[in-house]
Amino acid sequence: MINLESLLLELSNAPGPSGFENPVREIMKRELSPFVDSLDTDGMGSLIGIKNGPSSSPNIMLSAHMDEVGLLVRYITDEGFIKFQNLGGWLDQAIIGQRWQILTSKRTVLGITGIKTPHVMSTDERGKVFKGENLFLDVGAQNKEDAENRLGIKPGDPIAPVSYATRLNDSEFILGKAWDDRAGLAVLVGVMESVKDSDLPFNICAVATVQEEIGLRGAHTSSYAVNPDIGLNLESGVAGDYPSISQYEAQEKLGNGPAIFLHDSSMLPNLKLRDFVIDTAKDSDINLQFNVLSGYGQDGAEMQKSFEGAPAINITVPTRYLHSHNSIINIKDVEKAIDLVGQCILQLNLEKIKNLKNFD
Ligand SMILES: [Zn+2]
Repeated sequence: MINLESLLLELSNAPGPSGFENPVREIMKRELSPFVDSLDTDGMGSLIGIKNGPSSSPNIMLSAHMDEVGLLVRYITDEGFIKFQNLGGWLDQAIIGQRWQILTSKRTVLGITGIKTPHVMSTDERGKVFKGENLFLDVGAQNKEDAENRLGIKPGDPIAPVSYATRLNDSEFILGKAWDDRAGLAVLVGVMESVKDSDLPFNICAVATVQEEIGLRGAHTSSYAVNPDIGLNLESGVAGDYPSISQYEAQEKLGNGPAIFLHDSSMLPNLKLRDFVIDTAKDSDINLQFNVLSGYGQDGAEMQKSFEGAPAINITVPTRYLHSHNSIINIKDVEKAIDLVGQCILQLNLEKIKNLKNFD
């Protein structure tokens, strides 16, 4: 049996900004290989593990993305400070005052996003939001040459948040970075383990995608590599259970089980597939939550639109404070998400797949 907690902590700690997912891919290779018949990467680096069904059987694609929001070295100033480009959707305010690791070809370089000391600010300036274009990393370099030669920093080097995952005060909560979407990857591994001994009438394609945070890029190519008949995307959801956020904005609550998205700006789920997941949750005694988001994009949209199209749905682990150094999930929700997706796979058969794809 996988140790879910240690897998979650390891996945969260691994650095993997969009386009630089290698450390996460290595973990996923190790974790998926016992449960699949083949394991390959596509031309962009997404990892595709397949548990074979009978020959020429349909493809059930499960996906979760390996990348996290990060930064990238734009240039080094003459004084040795690092100007950067955001990778993914950061609030500038979440970038300030944090620790980061620059992943150079030579070594890992620790840096911090400095901020002007409040002692010298006018009252007016204190109330203002700092603009991303004025932000920088301090790596303790003497000057540009020192940053380049001693630390090995080059333009284009990826930068990941530094934040170590931990249980939050002995609760069911786990605090860490990158639950978006390392929580989904843990669900993917757990599901593949749970169905490993089942003889299924279809192929299960377990895909760990790259570059989701910068526009679902890896899911685009991997969906074409797989050609899914049904797509189940495994994601971090959006919790709305803390002060300053409303139920109207996000409905998921930590500890209440997995959720499905009924709307986000990238996709509408197939309604028969929605009902299938709802029925499966009910039959399996798993509490299922719903979420309707005005924004958000996720890899399910690419599965849905590949080739002639496929029914798809996004299944999530509720998460607080996404796209920051410190997000929170509940480990029980991860367990329940594994149960739900595993049950969905066991309940599927050729006739149900045909019916999900039938619009008559
Ligand atoms: Zn995500």
